[in-house]
Amino acid sequence: MFEIKGDLLNSVLMEGIKESVFIVKVINDLEFVYVYMNRAAMEKTGLTRNVIGQSIQDVYTAERADFLIEQYKKVVISLESVTYEDSNTSLLGEMYYSEITLSPLFDESNKCTHIVALVHDVTEKKWGEFELKSYWDSLLESKQRYRSLYEFNEDAIFSINRNGEIIKGNAAVQDVTGYDANSLIDSNFISLVAVEHINTTMDSFNRAVEGKNQHINIAITNKSGNRVEVIAKFTPTIVNGDVVGIYWILKDVTEQLMILKMYQESEQRFRIIAENSQDLITMLDEKGKIIYVSPSYKTVLGFNKEEYLGKYFFHNIHLEHKDQLWESVLLSIKSEKSWKLQVLNKHKTKGWIWCELSGTPVFDSKSQFIHMVCVTRDIHLQKEYEMKLKHIAFHDSLTNLPNRRLFKEKLTHTLSELRKNKKGFSVIIMDIDHFKSINDEMGHDIGDEVLVEFSKRVSKCLQDDEMVSRLGGDEFTVLLPNRQSENDVAAMAEEIRRTMDKPWNIHDHEFKITTSMGIAIVSDKYTTESSILKTADIALYEAKRAGRNTYRIK
Ligand code: GH3
Ligand code: MG
Repeated sequence: MFEIKGDLLNSVLMEGIKESVFIVKVINDLEFVYVYMNRAAMEKTGLTRNVIGQSIQDVYTAERADFLIEQYKKVVISLESVTYEDSNTSLLGEMYYSEITLSPLFDESNKCTHIVALVHDVTEKKWGEFELKSYWDSLLESKQRYRSLYEFNEDAIFSINRNGEIIKGNAAVQDVTGYDANSLIDSNFISLVAVEHINTTMDSFNRAVEGKNQHINIAITNKSGNRVEVIAKFTPTIVNGDVVGIYWILKDVTEQLMILKMYQESEQRFRIIAENSQDLITMLDEKGKIIYVSPSYKTVLGFNKEEYLGKYFFHNIHLEHKDQLWESVLLSIKSEKSWKLQVLNKHKTKGWIWCELSGTPVFDSKSQFIHMVCVTRDIHLQKEYEMKLKHIAFHDSLTNLPNRRLFKEKLTHTLSELRKNKKGFSVIIMDIDHFKSINDEMGHDIGDEVLVEFSKRVSKCLQDDEMVSRLGGDEFTVLLPNRQSENDVAAMAEEIRRTMDKPWNIHDHEFKITTSMGIAIVSDKYTTESSILKTADIALYEAKRAGRNTYRIK
C-alpha cells in the first residue's frame, strides 16, 4: 500500500515545485478523490484544502468532471502516463493554458491506486504559438492581397531586375502594351519606351536601382506601333537593405490626356472668343451668379467686370425685364435648350440701352446643370433703326404726323373701346380749301411748308389723347376719343378754325388758309371704320358745298 508521506510532499512539492500538483486516489477504477494539492495548484485554481477527500464530481461541474474523469480513466486502463492539454480561466479572469501529465502510482500488485497530476503552465508558450499563427495568417493574407493587387491591377506591373530585364508582368501588361506579359520576359523594359523618353526613363530607373521611388510621364510604343501616354512609376524592392529588383508600373493616361487637352483647348477657345468679343460674354454658376464677364463689359456698358462678379445675372437689368429673364434662364435649364431675350441693360452713363441676350445651359457628364454661358449684344442701334422703321411705317414723312395706317389702328382701337364701354367719340376729316392754288401760285415747296404749318397748328389745339393724322394730300383727320357731344366737337372745330385765322407767313409770303371739316360723332357700337370715314367724308363734302371754311356734323 502506497503511503503518502505528508512531510516529504510538503517540503518537496509545496516549496520546490512551481507546477501545480494534484494527487487523487483511485477508488474502484471509477472514482477519483483528491488527497493532495500543493500551493501552486491552490493559487492557480482557487481551490482550497477543503476539496481533500472530495471526488472530482464533487468539485467540478458535471461537464468539466466528465472531461477530467475521462483523462484519469485512460491512466487506469493503460497504466501509463497520459498527457493532455487544458485551458481554464484563472482567478483574475485570464485564460491560461496547461499541459497536464497524469502518472499512475501502483501498489505491490501493480494496481493503480493513485494518480499524480503535474500541471505545466504553457500559457506563455501558447501565446507564442498564437502570435506565430496570427503572424502567418496575416502574412498569408497580405501575400494573397498582394497577389490580387498585382494580378488584378488595371495598371501594367512589371517586375524587372537590376539590369532592366523583365522577369514577370501582370495581366494588364497586355491591355497597356498589347504584348502578352510572358512574351516580354527577359527583354529589356527600355525597348518599350518611346525613343524621345529613353534618356529620362533610364535616369529614373537608375535612381530606382539606388533605392529611390521614381515617377515620370512618358510615352511607350505598343505592339501595334502606336504611342501610349503613361505615368511610369519605378518602385524598388528592397530586401535587407539591398535593391533586389524594381516594380515598373505603367498607368495608361492617353484618354485622360486627350480629355484634358480637349478641355484645355475648349477652355482656351472660350477665353480667346470671350476676351476679344465685342459682345458681352457672361458665365453663370449653377445658382445663377456671375462667375465670369468679358472685358467688353467696359466698352459696351461702361462698367468694370468687377462690378458684376458674384452678382446675380439680372444685376443692372431693367426691372421690367428681370422676371422674364429669370424665367428664360430657368426654362432653358429645365428644357436643356438655349434661350434669347431682348432687355434693357443699364449703361454707366447712357442710361438704359437695348441688348439682346442669348444663353446656353452647360451640363456635366451626369446631366447636372453647371453653367450658363450667355452672350449679350448691344442692339440699341438696331433697336433705334427698328423704331425708326416703325415710325416711318406709321408716320407721314413730310409733317411727321401719324399717317393713314396709324389713324386706322387708333380708330379700330377707339371703336373697340366704344363696344366695351359704350363711350362715344368723334372723327373730323379736314381738307384744306383751295390748296391747289397755293401750290400753283407759290410753288410746291411752299405748299409743303403750308402742310407742315397746318399740322402744327392743329396739333396745338388737341388734348393729349386726341390725335391728328395726315390721310394724304391736303387731307387730315382728327380723332377725338372723348368728345361725343355736338358741343364738344363743335368747340374743337371752332378752335381749329380760329387757329387757321391767324396770319400765315411763309418765306415772306403772306396768305390765308382755311379748312373745311366733316365730323362724324360715333355712338353706334355696330358701326365700322369705313362707315365712320364715309359719314365724315359726306359731312366734309357738305362743308365744302356750303362754301368752305366751315364744318358739318353728322
Ligand atoms: P378743295 O378746296 O376742293 O379741297 O380744293 P383743293 O385745291 O384743295 O383741291 P384738292 O383738295 O382736291 O387737291 C389737293 C391738292 O394737294 C392736290 C395736290 O396737287 C396737292 N398735293 C397733294 N399732296 C401734296 C404734297 O405733298 N405737297 C404739296 N405741295 N401738294 C400736295
Ligand atoms: Mg383741298
